[in-house]
Amino acid sequence: MRFLISGAGVAGLSTAVNLDADGHDVTIVERAEHLGGNAPPIDIRGDALDVADKMGLLGQIRERRIDMTQRVQFIDRDGTVVAELPVDEINDSPDDIEIARDDITNLLRDRLGSSTELRLGESIAELDDGESGVDVRFSSGTVDRYDLVVGADGMHSAVRRLTFGPERLFLHHLGFYTAMARLPGYHPSDRINPMYSFPGHIVGIMSYNKKTLAFFMFRSSWIDYDYHDLAIKKRILADAFAGHHEWRVPELVDAAVQDTHLYFDSESQIKMPGWHNGRVALVGDAAYCASTLSGRGTSLALTGAWFLAKALREHPGDLGQAWEQYERDQRPHVIRHQATAAPGGELLAPATQDEIDTRNRGLAARPADEE
Ligand SMILES: Cc1cc2nc3c(=O)[nH]c(=O)nc-3n(C[C@H](O)[C@H](O)[C@H](O)COP(=O)(O)OP(=O)(O)OC[C@H]3O[C@@H](n4cnc5c(N)ncnc54)[C@H](O)[C@@H]3O)c2cc1C
Repeated sequence: MRFLISGAGVAGLSTAVNLDADGHDVTIVERAEHLGGNAPPIDIRGDALDVADKMGLLGQIRERRIDMTQRVQFIDRDGTVVAELPVDEINDSPDDIEIARDDITNLLRDRLGSSTELRLGESIAELDDGESGVDVRFSSGTVDRYDLVVGADGMHSAVRRLTFGPERLFLHHLGFYTAMARLPGYHPSDRINPMYSFPGHIVGIMSYNKKTLAFFMFRSSWIDYDYHDLAIKKRILADAFAGHHEWRVPELVDAAVQDTHLYFDSESQIKMPGWHNGRVALVGDAAYCASTLSGRGTSLALTGAWFLAKALREHPGDLGQAWEQYERDQRPHVIRHQATAAPGGELLAPATQDEIDTRNRGLAARPADEE
């Protein structure tokens, strides 16, 4: 069959690897001009480790393991360490693997078979799902017909909008915004990744391999802005941290404002009653974004891509059965992983100083209690 996949993140690339292995003809279109982007490391946990193993990737993923999150420590306004991130509680098991996004992206891209074509700087402009195929017009103006289309184009999925309706029907804001900025000239002086909290906010520095990012999160009700508009995103971020001169807050906000690839988005989840419509299906954040706060989006992308290909393999002549099986297999993972986001927000950005102090006392006491 001829497949078109929109989006070359972990979900799109994994789907392509799995479909290609089953002998399908796959085209991936990726809006960006390059893969990976400015995004931070990700985690592979639980059942996704089994999937990575079945895909023949687990060994290489293990070799590239990093410990960015393990090095996070909460600091006070002067930079003194006051508590540690309880990584064991956050992880599903000690086997969980944190890996740089470029590394997993490159591993998946290297696995793409000869019947997969990856087109960068391209996206779907129009979809017409007909009786015998999906007619697609691309933003470049070319047209083509595919047997099936998979939307793997992230939380703000265009395929979802074109096939299922506007984003507001499915997006559930969790009450936080997150930003990540590059710190190109920064050389960490020690092994810790420091995070400073003040009520409703957290800001920190995260180093891994030879890269360093500034991390920001703050509580806020929904803000209506054009998420393609970088200048507005920078202004919202700067306003949220304005007036705070403690620790290195002004310096990090300045770095974010200078960053031409700043990541800024709401902490939101995508919740949909179903992930297919005719010959179009969704996978990864497009279908069931769990949010950064869950730290489980990549695991969901890997299991989703695996179950989607498996269902199509097991029901070659019956699309309805295949979609049903995909949803039956993947839904329990989505429910479990989406539920981890709310505690993540409470841990990282407590609303009041009392709650910050309580968190820090609890986490600082932990190692001593265990001795
Ligand atoms: C700041 C941040 C921190 C995160 N931290 C973690 C973490 O610690 N652990 C974890 O497991 N997960 C984390 N995640 C989530 C994780 O990145 C994703 O859930 C996971 O990688 C699956 O993503 P995806 O492939 O479905 O979507 P994405 O990674 O969003 O990829 C979508 C791809 O589609 C492309 N695209 C978008 N629109 C179009 C279009 N119209 N046409 C064509 N292409 C398009 C994008 O450029 C992108 O390449 C984090 C995400 C962010 C943003």
